[in-house]
Amino acid sequence: MKILVLNAGSSSCKYKLFNMDDHSVLCQGLVERIGDPTTGALTHKIAPDTDKEEKIALEEPFKDHAVALNKVIALLTDKDKGVIKDTNEISVIGHRVLHGGYFQTTPALVDEKCKKTIRDAFPLGPLHNPPNYTGIEVAEKLFPNVPNVAVFDTAFGMQMPEEAYTYALPKALSKELQIRRYGFHGTSHIYLVNRGAAFMHKPLEQFNCITLHLGNGSSLGCAQNGKCIDTSMGLTPLEGLVMGTRCGSIDPAIVPYIISQKGISAQEVDTIMNKKSGLLGLCGQTDLRDIHRMADKENNADAILARKILIRSIKKTLGSFFFLLEGKVDCLIFSAGIGENDAYVRSQVVKGLEGLGICMDQEKNATRSGDERDISTADSKVKILVIPTNEELQIALTAQEVLAKSKS
Ligand code: AMP
Repeated sequence: MKILVLNAGSSSCKYKLFNMDDHSVLCQGLVERIGDPTTGALTHKIAPDTDKEEKIALEEPFKDHAVALNKVIALLTDKDKGVIKDTNEISVIGHRVLHGGYFQTTPALVDEKCKKTIRDAFPLGPLHNPPNYTGIEVAEKLFPNVPNVAVFDTAFGMQMPEEAYTYALPKALSKELQIRRYGFHGTSHIYLVNRGAAFMHKPLEQFNCITLHLGNGSSLGCAQNGKCIDTSMGLTPLEGLVMGTRCGSIDPAIVPYIISQKGISAQEVDTIMNKKSGLLGLCGQTDLRDIHRMADKENNADAILARKILIRSIKKTLGSFFFLLEGKVDCLIFSAGIGENDAYVRSQVVKGLEGLGICMDQEKNATRSGDERDISTADSKVKILVIPTNEELQIALTAQEVLAKSKS
């Protein structure tokens, strides 16, 4: 079975075609600058990350997503370099959709009801849901015989109990505006929980873990018996940890204070908090590798402080989730750019937690690898895993499951 995964952004479209028999990637690519009348770019890789990898790079304008996706189809079905004969070989298309809104708790086969759900959630995901929706509509036209499945990034957070997702705001106001903790990176957290349970040889329904998705955007997830009971992001991805350019949780009264003192709009403060804060706001850099260099080689005080603040914010959230699980934690799972690669951050986050049964093997932690691995000591009560996330594969697996259910 072949499954195509699409992630349509406002001016870009990422795609990956999986062979579900062995979960291998037949090809993947990225179209950029869609909508720019003068120039656009498409990078297409056949058999990526294998010794048979072939790369095709095109530069031409892509007026809209339909033109871009038509080009992708031409590459997929190319007589010489194509990996399929025609689009009917694709069993289902899985779409990444940011927001499912207040009522959508699970992934769904795309029909008119599902499309309305995505449209209704435009105000909650104004930057992502509209282009995600366009991707679905274009796919429906260009792959007329292939079913589509919407996989919502909010699905993990929608598993939370009421006391976890409810903010202590006036009840009627929250209801009217559909304000609740939604949580994001859901596809990644679900993947990590599933892989973590498999790694630990535990049934999902008996598996408790804390997932640390640490990248440019970061969030922690807390799963009890395989289900989300809390997550650090909130109504929007701004809440929670300090991130590359986002401030994470701050005293909400800072917002009206800035507005009144600086005479700027709420929208401008929103932009400051999302795009100019976090590590960037603290030390002028977003990439942790640069921050390490500035801190360790140049003794830069801003970088040293930024790194401390980042680690502290992760540790505080980790501690609260550990308590929510009453200490009954099978493992911590580090993932994403920082979680998978940054041994320093991993070691600092768990430093001093041996008394809680969280014991890191420093040598294993320092060993670089792209594999799923256990970096805790043999006697660590709580295991510490590093699991490379794979959101596209999770979308493909989910689409496969939804399709199978729809047929049964
Ligand atoms: P992501 O958003 O998941 O791509 O993660 C981006 C973050 O991961 C950046 O802050 C990078 O500094 C960090 N990162 C990516 N690769 C590495 C690496 N090899 N070593 C340390 N940090 C890395």
